[in-house]
Amino acid sequence: MAYFVRPKPRVCPNWQSTLNACFTPFWSSRGIASAPASRKNGSPCRIAVIGSGPAGFYTAYRAMTRIQGAKVDMYESLPVPFGLVRFGVAPDHPEVKNCQEKFDEVASSPDFTFIGNVSVGSPSDHTDGASISLSAILRHYNAVVFAYGASKDRALGIPGESLYGVYSAREFVGWYNGLPEHARLAPDLTQGDEAVIIGQGNVALDVARMLLEDVDVLRKSDIAAHALETLARSRVRRVHIVGRRGPMQAAFTIKEIRELMRLPFVAFHPIDKSLIPLNPAQLPRAPRRLMDILLKGSPNTSSPMSKSWSLDFCLTPKTFLSSPNEPGSLRLAATELEHTTLSSPFDPHAYVLGTGKTVTVSSSVAFRSIGYKSVPLHGFSDLGIPFDEARGVISNDGRGRVQHEERDLGAAMELGTFPGLYCAGWVKRGPTGVIASTMQDAFATADAIAQDWASTIPFLNEPAGGEVWGWEGVQRETGLAQAQVVNWADWKKIDDVERERGRIEGKVREKFVRIEDMLAVLK
Ligand code: FAD
Ligand code: NAP
Repeated sequence: MAYFVRPKPRVCPNWQSTLNACFTPFWSSRGIASAPASRKNGSPCRIAVIGSGPAGFYTAYRAMTRIQGAKVDMYESLPVPFGLVRFGVAPDHPEVKNCQEKFDEVASSPDFTFIGNVSVGSPSDHTDGASISLSAILRHYNAVVFAYGASKDRALGIPGESLYGVYSAREFVGWYNGLPEHARLAPDLTQGDEAVIIGQGNVALDVARMLLEDVDVLRKSDIAAHALETLARSRVRRVHIVGRRGPMQAAFTIKEIRELMRLPFVAFHPIDKSLIPLNPAQLPRAPRRLMDILLKGSPNTSSPMSKSWSLDFCLTPKTFLSSPNEPGSLRLAATELEHTTLSSPFDPHAYVLGTGKTVTVSSSVAFRSIGYKSVPLHGFSDLGIPFDEARGVISNDGRGRVQHEERDLGAAMELGTFPGLYCAGWVKRGPTGVIASTMQDAFATADAIAQDWASTIPFLNEPAGGEVWGWEGVQRETGLAQAQVVNWADWKKIDDVERERGRIEGKVREKFVRIEDMLAVLK
């Protein structure tokens, strides 16, 4: 019998002892044979994917096509799949959700198991479902892929951020898309007619569109019923989309800004032309088109009756203010912004400097839309899995192999990878990128798994005959009953009922927004 041999003696202060304590027993308790030999024996590669968004599904798909006999178990904390495709993508962008058909195909494979309503790590904030520890997962798979996205958002850290009327865009997006965690947000859009959105990414534009769009357009979409009701009563007529930098640095993209410009009966307040390079024709294609759209503006002119919006460049938020006329009020009344200047106005990488000059914009509601944020799973620190808090990503080698720093005996610092641990999607590269880029990223991770599986690189566990693997092993260890879990057939039942509810209302679907209502379908 060949034995697993660590490639090189290592001394790593942070993770070596943890690895020895946590991972080595997984191997040694199984009388480990060498990795390639066991793989040559034809044992399937058992992969756990944590998260059922695009990153999870595209990794599963690619791994199942690239690794012969790969079996994927996908864990999802909610009873319903698809992550931000269901709970992020705007309801008036139904075509973007077509990727769900591909994911459905992936799920129809006999080598794929969906384990919904099961959160990995600590009990999730937003589900009432089961929770299993990360170590229970690690013991039953060859590879584990973290594809759990970014479930938090970044705060501004300025005074007044907790005033009533200040929301995070993530909460608002989750609310209008029927995410159970935010179903009760109940944003008050009736207190005044001006809204401020901090940040100029595509999420900010989604939020602006929801506030400005004719509610009748949204009526047929899969928007949550409670959101439709609130938006129909909204008094908001003027939206400021505030960016600390200029048009040449803006994070939004052409298609999305054009869509906002074309909203019927909604006017755009022209931008300050001095922020646009004198000769836009000389710019590369993408910024040139963007500058053209911004200069052209919208065909609708502003009138006191119409809704309108502006891109307020070179302003950074200082304070959210309550009304000075109502001492002790906890309700937002205005947003104080500081003018900024750019290190180099037309350089896409320009940085900002405060000028000290401020302006106050009346606002009964404000949204901070400055980016989502991933957090480590409960269990990471105990297991020594490194999480880069500054970037909000699991440390990885760029191809998805979870990575750590280690010292060899000569005390030189090197980077090493954890056997069998991978990541994909927003938790791998940060909370930016569309579904197409998430797919590319997930494919790269699956290709890294396939490459490692074909090599002598060790994995989490190496199979020894007669053992229980994968989901069956996890169930046996945790005592989790099948009845507590939502499988793919269960999801399809929920899906059918949501579509039928939608049909009755003349909508694409009427989502369940409470977990108990989703689960009630299965009883
Ligand atoms: P997610 O989609 O967030 O999936 C992560 C999954 O993991 C979720 O289902 C979550 O419930 C689950 N999970 C979390 N924690 C656990 C746990 N502990 N255990 C088990 N499961 C867990 N891209 C486009 O191409 N077009 C668009 O129109 C578009 N609109 C967008 C709108 C918004 C508001 C946002 C925020 C993004 C949008 N994107 C769009 C980008 C796109 O949604 C992302 O690129 C993509 O969803 C990222 O995929 P992911 O799988 O990494 O994360
Ligand atoms: P984003 O694109 O990274 O934009 C974040 C915005 O917040 C930027 O304007 C940024 O300005 C600003 N910001 C960050 N920190 C700030 C601070 N402290 N103070 C003031 N402003 C601050 O993030 P996002 O809008 O959340 O989008 C996430 C990803 O999803 C993006 O890749 C986006 O394209 C994608 N998405 C796509 C669609 C679509 O395709 N229709 C829709 C929604 C989302 P700076 O640049 O100055 O930092």
